[in-house]
Amino acid sequence: MTTTVLAPTQFEVKPLPYAYDALAPAISSETLHYHHDKHYAGYVDKLNLLVADTPYADRSLEEIIATSDGAIFNNAAQAWNHEFFFEQFSPQPQTQPTGALREAIDRDFGSVEQLHAAIRKASVALFGSGWVWLVKDSTGHLSLLSTRNAGTPIRHGLVPLLCFDVWEHAYYLDYQNRRADAVDASWGLIDWQKVAQRYRRGGAGH
Ligand code: MN
Repeated sequence: MTTTVLAPTQFEVKPLPYAYDALAPAISSETLHYHHDKHYAGYVDKLNLLVADTPYADRSLEEIIATSDGAIFNNAAQAWNHEFFFEQFSPQPQTQPTGALREAIDRDFGSVEQLHAAIRKASVALFGSGWVWLVKDSTGHLSLLSTRNAGTPIRHGLVPLLCFDVWEHAYYLDYQNRRADAVDASWGLIDWQKVAQRYRRGGAGH
């Protein structure tokens, strides 16, 4: 007789949408194994332990992020941020934004190249661990937002379009202290078709 044990696990680790070696050499297979399987999965596992037998146990990730603080917020937001981050890359990306998104970038940053430069600058300027985001506000204006640690734009009512993980765990194996180089390398893996979907959808989901 077999017994099926139902683990009280609410949130699942989403698999990478590409092979571990698909983004190399910009992001190595070793980095993705650590980043996805250890860091991101660790946040999901910790969140499941933290929310068990609490009112958060049957809430969505977004609902938890909106209303929690402390360790539950940190792990829920990091789970969400990482899913959003991994999803934006592709080994065969659409390498340039087009259409309405391109027009909005040109309007609010001057050009795609200037957006890239602004993201690089913000990434280097962020002291410690955190994220740099391209966000859209309720009027459609695009801007950059830097958040510390697990901070996330969906807590601020902003629509995230793109993010750069500038925690050292995201790049240290490949780039050591060269955070700007890591940002530049991953820039070319951004699938602007996915960013455009986020831009059109406009909500905080992904
Ligand atoms: Mn990370």
